[in-house]
Amino acid sequence: MEQKTLSYWQGKAASLVIEGRAFIDGAYRDAHSGRTFDCVSPIDGRTIAKVADCGAEDVDHAVAVARRAFDEQAWAGLNPRKRKAILLRWAVLLRAHLDEIALLETLDAGKPIGDTTTVDVPGAAYCVEWFAEAIDKVGGEVVPADHHLVGLVTREPIGVVAAVVPWNFPILMASWKFAPALAAGNSVVLKPSEKSPLSAIRIAQLAHEAGIPSGVFNVLPGGGEPGKLLALHSDVDCLAFTGSTAVGKQIMQYAGQSNLKRVWLELGGKSPNIVLPDCPDLDRAAKAAASAIFYNMGEMCTAGSRLLVHRDIKDAFLEKLTDAARSYKPGNPLDPDVSMGAIVDKVQLDRVLGYIDAGRKEAKLLLGGSRLNEASGGYYIEPTVFETARDARIAREEIFGPVLSVIVFDSVDDAVRIANDSEYGLAAAVWTSNLTSAHEISRRLRAGTVWVNCYDEGGDMNFPFGGYKQSGNGRDKSLHALEKYTELKSTLVRLR
Ligand code: NAD
Repeated sequence: MEQKTLSYWQGKAASLVIEGRAFIDGAYRDAHSGRTFDCVSPIDGRTIAKVADCGAEDVDHAVAVARRAFDEQAWAGLNPRKRKAILLRWAVLLRAHLDEIALLETLDAGKPIGDTTTVDVPGAAYCVEWFAEAIDKVGGEVVPADHHLVGLVTREPIGVVAAVVPWNFPILMASWKFAPALAAGNSVVLKPSEKSPLSAIRIAQLAHEAGIPSGVFNVLPGGGEPGKLLALHSDVDCLAFTGSTAVGKQIMQYAGQSNLKRVWLELGGKSPNIVLPDCPDLDRAAKAAASAIFYNMGEMCTAGSRLLVHRDIKDAFLEKLTDAARSYKPGNPLDPDVSMGAIVDKVQLDRVLGYIDAGRKEAKLLLGGSRLNEASGGYYIEPTVFETARDARIAREEIFGPVLSVIVFDSVDDAVRIANDSEYGLAAAVWTSNLTSAHEISRRLRAGTVWVNCYDEGGDMNFPFGGYKQSGNGRDKSLHALEKYTELKSTLVRLR
């Protein structure tokens, strides 16, 4: 078998045919306006494709065909077993094209090929499988009612679901929306980020090949404009969004200005990772703390970007942490040995460097702080660690890059106060050997996911994922996700 080295992937990349058109009603189409935008690879700053820049006419077109498909019940009207079979076929195709889709993801978003081939694409296929396999097992309820009545409570698909998603895990985040939405019988219009549209465009063809009827799954590449138009559209029944809190707030307003579509938001985070003096294994905790912020270049909504360390173990822990951080060496993400790739684009690069500059003024730089490999034309930043006060800007705002703020605390109450003192509440972690502390602190942490003695565990679909406070509402993953894409109906049948 051929070794998949850097030159293997570079060879594959050189011969890759990249599709940049929108996918509407079962076919690839240019934007009505004919406009395109450049898709730039963060690996070297080169343009790798021209992508359809969808606007109002494309949004109207996609929503109209999605509505038509829903009204015709071409998908919603199928026995769930049939939807399951088609979705499973799609998952098989995703796995069969794993290398190609992973390569698109790496070229487009700068993610290491070792991750896109093992996490992003298999994770998306697994998500499709999981919801496919679930959908013919969930039923409704027959509820207690007057003797002359039969009372049914059922869940029905909402109709047209628009999914607007970010660039950090392009296909994976999209799958967390489209898999449950499609399994439940909805039509979907997916709007990938303008920074990472390629994998979504590619998998649309595979959806069609698997047998998803025309109009049921559509992909509209473009920037904020088509996202906004979908959120304002009166024929979109549900807008499922993953992205920044600022845009999430706008989307809620667009829903209010239009048809009160259901709005589900998965937003930003500034997650605390608390290390207590009785941490069971400082080496493991240090490696996990580094991975929590440097995996995926720190472009993680759950990034453990605030490391809260007890004063008694601070020096020992920081030594281990900086050692662990040094193992993340940014490099060409097409190299399978590289664990840290490129920052998604120049805008994000400048944003992260801006925060590092702010950090230099308000905090103590312990590690990193520089852009690397500039001659490549790509966007690379080394792992960066600051020791900082709890109220510093870098310790409060989401950076979405490889920048860690270390904050020292003196007591458990202090740690919990700092942890919860954030507008966000996506995730949190605590490291302790004491079972009582573990449970008590977990209960006090205001976050949608709490890890104890680990970080970022839980690739299983069984765990609901989402945020407290301004990290969002609703939950992706798990059977609970189906609630977002269904309406609850009470049917009362009078017998006599
Ligand atoms: P973003 O909010 O800038 O963009 C997200 C999507 O919204 C993109 O597709 C974008 O084109 C679109 N968009 C932009 N402006 C819009 C508007 N006015 N109306 C409608 N759509 C609009 O976010 P991003 O930079 O792509 O992603 C980073 C953010 O995503 C971070 O805040 C991160 O924490 C968050 N995120 C959250 C989760 C989660 O599950 N909670 C997961 C991944 C990323």
